[in-house]
Amino acid sequence: MSIKENYKSIKDQLPSHVQLVAVSKTHPVSAVREVYDLGQRVFGENKVQELMEKYPLLPQDIQWHLIGHLQTNKVKYLAPFIDTIQSVDSEKLLAEINKESGKNNRVIKVLLQVKIAAEESKFGLEISEAKDLFQQYVESQFPNVEITGLMGMATFTDDEQQIRNEFLKLKGLFDELNQLKTLNTLSMGMSDDFPAAIECGANSVRVGSAIFGRRDYSK
Ligand SMILES: *Cc1c(COP(=O)(O)O)cnc(C)c1O
Repeated sequence: MSIKENYKSIKDQLPSHVQLVAVSKTHPVSAVREVYDLGQRVFGENKVQELMEKYPLLPQDIQWHLIGHLQTNKVKYLAPFIDTIQSVDSEKLLAEINKESGKNNRVIKVLLQVKIAAEESKFGLEISEAKDLFQQYVESQFPNVEITGLMGMATFTDDEQQIRNEFLKLKGLFDELNQLKTLNTLSMGMSDDFPAAIECGANSVRVGSAIFGRRDYSK
């Protein structure tokens, strides 16, 4: 199927309350432009350098989300324009975003990335760390960021029940934190598991290959 057909098919599967973040990593600016022309405005990239290359070549009303691990020394490049940083996985990073956001007279939206997968390698806060960091935020320690929600990735497995249990764990934390201060965004689900994520409460999904096709890392 073409990018256009893929995009339409994904949009048809999403309930109206679910936001689509089109993940364009490794795909050329021309492909982003094609999806933009179909009406999509929210795009996700996982690497700062790739985002910095694409950003100036594309329309200014795109809302860019960073979805990959972010080093503190690169926050300054994103701070002038990034819409949402979905991958906040430490207090140090949150403090840096707060600082650079202030320098730019902005309030940058962020999601706390929480480790829900069984796999070792995935970045993210432990649930207890996420609670502590959110508590600090509620106590106004980071005035130039707005924590709008949580992001998580399920284990890469065929075990649908395990995937759902992991999503439900994040939904439970979302509901708990939402009692302390209002959250809007529960970002979970990718090309292979977004329907399950939505059933478990996701209202934002990050879909790449199901729109743009498979990624070619050899180039
Ligand atoms: C690449 C990526 C996605 C999209 O993955 P697909 O399987 O291509 O949909 C979603 N979230 C994160 C954090 C990613 O790095």
